[in-house]
Amino acid sequence: MNRGKGPYWSLIVIKKTPELEHSARNCWDVYSSAADKKAVEACAVKYMDFLTRCKTERETVDYVLAAARAGGFSETLNAKTKAYVNAQRGKTVLLARRGKKPLSEGFRLVGAHCDTPRIDLKQHPLYEDTDMALFKTHYYGGIRKHQWMARPLALHGVVVKKDGSVVRVCVGEAAGDPVLTITDLLPHLAYKQAEQKLADAFEAEKLNAVAGHEPVKKIGDKDKDRVKRHVLELLNARYGITESDLFSAELQLVPAGPARSVGLDSSMIGAYGHDDRSCVFSALEALLAEKQPEHTQLVLFWDKEEIGSEGATGAQSLFFEYALQDILDAWEPKTKLSHVFARGMAISADVNAAMDPDYADVYEKLNAAYMGQGPCFNKFTGHRGKVGANDAHPEFVAYLRNILDAANVPWHMAELGKVDIGGGGTVAKFLAVYGMDVIDMGPAVLSMHSPFEVLSKVDVHATVEALRAFLKS
Ligand code: MN
Ligand code: MN
Repeated sequence: MNRGKGPYWSLIVIKKTPELEHSARNCWDVYSSAADKKAVEACAVKYMDFLTRCKTERETVDYVLAAARAGGFSETLNAKTKAYVNAQRGKTVLLARRGKKPLSEGFRLVGAHCDTPRIDLKQHPLYEDTDMALFKTHYYGGIRKHQWMARPLALHGVVVKKDGSVVRVCVGEAAGDPVLTITDLLPHLAYKQAEQKLADAFEAEKLNAVAGHEPVKKIGDKDKDRVKRHVLELLNARYGITESDLFSAELQLVPAGPARSVGLDSSMIGAYGHDDRSCVFSALEALLAEKQPEHTQLVLFWDKEEIGSEGATGAQSLFFEYALQDILDAWEPKTKLSHVFARGMAISADVNAAMDPDYADVYEKLNAAYMGQGPCFNKFTGHRGKVGANDAHPEFVAYLRNILDAANVPWHMAELGKVDIGGGGTVAKFLAVYGMDVIDMGPAVLSMHSPFEVLSKVDVHATVEALRAFLKS
């Protein structure tokens, strides 16, 4: 046996090392002063308002654009532009704030996604059956179908008419507005269904939303589809649209109603879309707080992450590359794009699954994410032996540990569930192809992808602080 060239273990002199063991910090203890508590609650109030108003990618991008313009960001790009915003098809947006250092010394990028799992209407949605009008649907992203039944749903989206005009649709949010719903089977008649496998028990083609029940008046002996006719008349009166306009529409059923405080202590937030709007909100807040950064700051919100980052507005598109080339042409025409990419540092800001005591068996507790411990890093994602993962370099992890600890921001390190029990991916790998450093980070969320996800108020605040520290590094 080779003992190597080092000293014998028995001869090592042990010095007192106070921080030899790592112990996680509870954010509520870290942010316990009166001023910090006020900041946590103020952040939560603003975030809940944002969640209540932004339930689709378009609504989110509209909010971001309004906040960016109010913060001095301009759509005009030239050598003098300090803060630049560029939105693509109303669904994805890049914000850039010029740093004191040139882009050739790299950038600090935070990327997140503004799309969320939901129930989309089909292009031929409306039909009548059993004296009811219903909408056919096709779900978007990874949902557990039964969670979306027997609950109030709002209809959000756009209808584009042949003349190109875009009609914004929103039904079910205002007080007094009706909602839609997808019905579920009563337990009395569900004996057979209750014995089926979960994957077979709920059929996607049965996720039809009830849209009406009262027929229009009979005209002569015409008695067919009078309820459907009524719904079309109402849509026409409210939005000026016809049935064929629904071909060129993106209409989404989302959970109706506002974000709510959860717990008798109001310490958590229950809402639709923490994944990934908690990171969109945190990145935006962090960016707007820092006016004169060292390195150029980029904040990028994509669409389509929940279906694989495909399409013209997803992270696999060339939008980011083209937009950064435009910025480089305006600010540093002599610098090569590949050099800027290779010196870039990025956080793929996305939520992780919080340890749920009722389902502790799918988590590995030493490496799980926990509510209240601040944002968590995922060095890698993927499934079954890290397949499909970006794997952040330890040099970059060490860099981030250093800046977060220096800023006294609590954070922790986690991976998604037990090995081989499932898995997931993010946009990180689509950034890593450029050679930049990138890692996943975000708050831990309970009931992820459900209509009512839960996260800790203190984690949202800590995530804003963490992204701020990173963006100004
Ligand atoms: Mn996500
Ligand atoms: Mn997701």
